[in-house]
Amino acid sequence: MKAFKIVRGMRDFLPEEAQMLRLIEGKARNVAKLYGYEEIITPVVESYELLAAKSGEEVRSRMFAFKDLGGRKVALRPEFTASVARLVATTLRNAPKPLRLLCIGSLYRYDEPQKGRFREFWQSNFELIGPEKPEADAEILLLTNNLMKSVGLRNYAFKVGHIGVLRGILGREGLAEDVQNRALQLMDKKQYEDALSLVKDAGASEKCLTLLQKMVNIRGCNLSSVLGEMKRLVEDYSGASAAVENLAEIVELVSKACNLDVMVDAGFARGLEYYTGMIFEVYVPELDIALAGGGRYDRLVELFGGEPTPAVGVAHGLDRIMLALQEQKALVKPYGDKRVVVVSVSEALSTEALRVSETLRAEGIPVEVEVMGRKVAKALETANRKGIAYVVLVGERELKEGAVTLRDMERKEQRTLKIEELAKAIRTG
Ligand code: AMP
Repeated sequence: MKAFKIVRGMRDFLPEEAQMLRLIEGKARNVAKLYGYEEIITPVVESYELLAAKSGEEVRSRMFAFKDLGGRKVALRPEFTASVARLVATTLRNAPKPLRLLCIGSLYRYDEPQKGRFREFWQSNFELIGPEKPEADAEILLLTNNLMKSVGLRNYAFKVGHIGVLRGILGREGLAEDVQNRALQLMDKKQYEDALSLVKDAGASEKCLTLLQKMVNIRGCNLSSVLGEMKRLVEDYSGASAAVENLAEIVELVSKACNLDVMVDAGFARGLEYYTGMIFEVYVPELDIALAGGGRYDRLVELFGGEPTPAVGVAHGLDRIMLALQEQKALVKPYGDKRVVVVSVSEALSTEALRVSETLRAEGIPVEVEVMGRKVAKALETANRKGIAYVVLVGERELKEGAVTLRDMERKEQRTLKIEELAKAIRTG
């Protein structure tokens, strides 16, 4: 039989990496707890129609879509927000607002694999459903900041914008929504020239083109200057002006609440079509791909047949955050417990070794049993190689006294102990 290879774009997480990922996931769960978000678990498989409705051409064209055996057109979820909006439009329709919901799991996109980009990836996704106030947008930024800080990430930066600014300008020119979407997608990929020629061909005025050209060049951390400049440029566009006003309120709230500095980017767009308000991404200097992204989507629930429901959310790329931490060499090794192996000196004592192991586990001490049939010398050698802290040797002579031998592998010392004293000895080192 030939040796199988992993499918392109997929990855294995070996124990150390799996632990890191779960550790980051644990931090995200803790953030959820701190901010009052409750977990829901939605299916990996959703109807294609639901997922395709408003995700944007970029995501739509990269879905793992197929017909199930019943002939339904389905797809593996490329994001969580569509599933959440489906629930809010149906089962959770009458649930009191705000709803604070957390989803954690794997997502699937047929992206071109590269560093930090896989076809299966992991997110923690926070959605705040119901409020239209800027405090809600601020909360999503603040909890994202809390997560980045709590995993130990350094020098991360928030890039913030407002989709209403560019849409306010394009809409005023009477450009069709699909033209606007395509232009915004090009801007998302920083293909500003292509975006401008697209809107020009669609009939945009010279004034609009000049304005867009100026907008895509305005960015910076000096908020009063950047926002002031944006305000001045869109003065004649009421929709865009309101968007700048809203953005200013949000960034002021976050900077006052926790001194979080953000970079405002007037030409910032995001690939997903459903955003209606503030949008943002998080970056670190070591990587040129975003670690998290989110924004406001006030019309999605309605689009799925629910009541008009404002909402704002964020998706944190858990495996990307892990990569960023690896790049920054900032990962704390998650192993807290010292590893213990129990070895029976002879085969006849293997039942006793199991019994001693169970006694230790009952005390909450993680224990591995030697199950390869290795003799003591070989078992000690293996334990050394694997960085095991303690080996418990179960021998006949000691057992008669209700005792075993505890070997400290690092100090290369051993002593005989009563079985009931063993757990305490291991715990206190
Ligand atoms: P999006 O849903 O496109 O806003 O993505 C939100 C976050 O998910 C991004 O900021 C990334 O951290 C992560 N992400 C998106 N696509 C991928 C991918 N192909 N591989 C790894 N992480 C991804």
